Amino acid sequence: MTFAELGLAEPIVRAVREQGYETPTPIQAQAIPAVISGGDLLAGAQTGTGKTAGFTLPLLHKLSAAKPVRDAKGRVAIRALILTPTRELAAQVEESVRTYGKYLPLKSMVMFGGVGMGPQIDALRRGVDILVATPGRLLDHHQQGTLDLSKIEYFVLDEADRMLDMGFIHDIKKVLAIVPAQKQSLLFSATFSDEIKALADRLLNKPQMIEV
Ligand code: AMP
Repeated sequence: MTFAELGLAEPIVRAVREQGYETPTPIQAQAIPAVISGGDLLAGAQTGTGKTAGFTLPLLHKLSAAKPVRDAKGRVAIRALILTPTRELAAQVEESVRTYGKYLPLKSMVMFGGVGMGPQIDALRRGVDILVATPGRLLDHHQQGTLDLSKIEYFVLDEADRMLDMGFIHDIKKVLAIVPAQKQSLLFSATFSDEIKALADRLLNKPQMIEV
């Protein structure tokens, strides 16, 4: 099995090859076709399994296959939102998006708290296709009117179990109330407590389930 055989576009396959990846990991072999085909996904995967490429590669593929979406002011609008529990993970995921998307005309941005809002507002004004964020700062921007989430088509909760452990359930519920109801949603978690199952029930519509 190769990345090209999973259906990914050539610029993505080229970027992945440059990273030295030869074959998809088990989670990638399952998640990539599932996301490309369009349904919701519930994935059980630990860090180190290649889960990040498992969702970023097919999202890049789908976003690049469609025209950019514009907001009311004519700016490139955010189509994909990836939420992570920590700044470190957010930065890492966005770095992966940049690496795998280096041959695509898509703009990504990472957003987290503990740093100034100003540069984030400037970056949002320049237009963003893919936003990787921690929940608190995302909601701060939304409350201030500096963030438009009305064009979201893809929504990812990465390390959902850690997000709940860190007490983000209320923030996640607030975000879910803001983003469009019609979207493709992916939930990644290393463990499946009753709380995660309840969140999955709320977020996902007839999800495909994969576990590695
Ligand atoms: P993750 O589980 O997403 O944190 O990824 C763990 C590590 O595996 C990262 O350093 C990736 O660069 C690497 N990786 C991801 N996919 C592959 C692959 N198909 N082949 C080799 N390494 C990979």
